[in-house]
Amino acid sequence: MGTRKKVHAFVRVKPTDDFAHEMIKYGDDNKSIDIHIKKDLQKGFVNNKQTDWSFKLDGVLHNASQDLVYETVAKDVVAQALDGYNGTIMCYGQTGAGKTYTMTGTTENYKHRGILPRALQQGETNRIIASHTMNKNSSRSHCIFTIYVEAHSRTLSDEKYITSKINLVDLAGSERLKKSGSEGRVLKEATYINKSLSFLEQAIIALGDQKRDHIPFRQCKLTHALKDSLGGNCNMVLLTNIYGEASQLEETLSSLRFASRMKLVTTEPAINEKYDAERMVKNLEKELALLKQELAIHDSLANRTLVNYDPMDEIQIAEINSQVRRYLEGTLDEIDIINLRQIQEVFNQFRVVLSQQEQEVELTLRRKYTLIDKNDFAAISAVQKAGLMDVDGHLVGEPDGQGFGLGVTPFSAKPGKKAKSKKMFKEQLSTSARKEGASSPVGGKDLDFSTSKTQLTPSSKEGDVKDMLMRDRETSSTEPLPLDSPKEELRPPRPSTPPPKPVAFEDFKNERGSEINRIFKENKSILNERRKRASETTQRINAIKREMDMTKEALNFQKSLREKQGEYENKGLMIIDEEEFLLILKLKDLKKQYRTEYQDLRDLKAEIQYCQHLVDQCRHRLLMEFDIWYNESFFIPEDIQVSLKPGSSIRPGMVPISRIVSLHNYLKTMMGFQQAHRK
Ligand code: ADP
Ligand code: MG
Repeated sequence: MGTRKKVHAFVRVKPTDDFAHEMIKYGDDNKSIDIHIKKDLQKGFVNNKQTDWSFKLDGVLHNASQDLVYETVAKDVVAQALDGYNGTIMCYGQTGAGKTYTMTGTTENYKHRGILPRALQQGETNRIIASHTMNKNSSRSHCIFTIYVEAHSRTLSDEKYITSKINLVDLAGSERLKKSGSEGRVLKEATYINKSLSFLEQAIIALGDQKRDHIPFRQCKLTHALKDSLGGNCNMVLLTNIYGEASQLEETLSSLRFASRMKLVTTEPAINEKYDAERMVKNLEKELALLKQELAIHDSLANRTLVNYDPMDEIQIAEINSQVRRYLEGTLDEIDIINLRQIQEVFNQFRVVLSQQEQEVELTLRRKYTLIDKNDFAAISAVQKAGLMDVDGHLVGEPDGQGFGLGVTPFSAKPGKKAKSKKMFKEQLSTSARKEGASSPVGGKDLDFSTSKTQLTPSSKEGDVKDMLMRDRETSSTEPLPLDSPKEELRPPRPSTPPPKPVAFEDFKNERGSEINRIFKENKSILNERRKRASETTQRINAIKREMDMTKEALNFQKSLREKQGEYENKGLMIIDEEEFLLILKLKDLKKQYRTEYQDLRDLKAEIQYCQHLVDQCRHRLLMEFDIWYNESFFIPEDIQVSLKPGSSIRPGMVPISRIVSLHNYLKTMMGFQQAHRK
């Protein structure tokens, strides 16, 4: 097993009184044939340049008895078949060269019986087929005898058995057409036979080529029938029958060439082992009963009360569930171990309780908070409208821009699930809007708050500057400032205690931070607009997808209708009715639309990602500037402050306004670039 084996190629020469001694010579080891053509005879041969050929084979049988032929060619193959290896023996050669004689032999004389009856005898099954095998075999057809072998072990308990096949193939004559002088139907047959022989050769050569993965078995009936017997896991023998007469030399040469090509082919014989499922179950049942008895003995020896090892019923499982709950609550100190099955059930119930608790926690959270699927664009934009989320797409209180999953959800994402979460959200939105009011300030915790898949909108809480920045909206500039914020020049003497940062931040935005703040807001509004477009595109894509599904369904229905009514075919073209045709066109159109929208969405997402990056950068700068400004204004001694005033050269940490990227300008150039690119 696992080792590759060559096809064995033998030659059997038909005995004749007119043997061409001068042309055909056997090697001393009986494994080669040399052919020599005399110059004067050479004319008219296939290859008129060459006069000498030498063929190396696995054995040359001349004047060999049927007995010797069987011993040499078939005995091992049959023996191996009884051990589970498939085997194939083929006779090849021109008509009259002795293929049938070799394969089946003659019925008159027992000594002259061929490979087939001997193989049956070797397999001790000769009773059945003896008469059948002697059927007439036309030289113009291929004849395949298959012996199926199934071997069970004599001991009953063995559930393993082997199956194998022996194919004995008496091929049709390989002679060339011009010589046989066939006409009409016979010519047609001969052409077909010749073709199938060359298909056979192609298939065998393909099998021998380890680089080839396609074997052309379907080319003709012959190769199809031999599909699992050629090459592959088979022991294969080719016996080439030739005439030893000068007049047949051309066919002899052709047959020998075929033999030497086949000799190069390799196969990988393997045992065909099978399992008898019924026997296996019986054996396992027996063993199970035995082991149960064994267990019972062990229990009684260990003085254990009778333990039941059968599968648990509902009541027992419920009891374990209750034990696990009490254990988790702390009212049960330990769970007694009884047997393996019970231990497994305890773990199982741990899992059950855990997942129930997870659900309970989520339910509690849902009662208290609004949960939104981060990939639900529609819901997010609804929240934005309702004022629960800032333009960055964060729910208020969410600190950082990872909430908007770009390229995360495939568009085929289960629509059912999505629809459900959307509905749930809407219900909750109405209640939370009523409770908190759309404009009520809601703050979050701090910047290091890590985001999870679902976002929470916590109830209002006092926030600092960073929170204020998060809920910074277009409308915020029109809101009255919480404190009077005098311009820097008019600022009254520094208060003894610095103002709270949120208050100071409003001041900052109106004076030194105004330009950065303006760019920040502008960038955010562009980002928001792109998000809205992405959300709309997603909705369109979903609508197209739904329409595509419906069209496909309708098409399938039309198709099944057509199949039920019987198909019409005209010159190989399928006839379909108008309705089906229109559906096909529609589907094509929808697919086109889908692709376009999909591409748009991809572009939008790339844009959004970039915008998000710039917005984050702006926010970061704004905060940094504010900190500097705050320290300058309230903690640095006044005399130093003078030198820091606008106009003087020292501005610690200040980033020049010109270096803050405006998204607006950036996108203008980008869009121009993209359009130029698409053309
Ligand atoms: P094929 O099947 O290749 O067309 P056959 O097996 O029918 O050829 O052989 C043609 C004739 O030659 C038959 O009468 C057969 O008995 C005889 N014959 C072939 N080979 C031998 C052989 N080795 N010894 C004796 N007779 C043979
Ligand atoms: Mg024959």
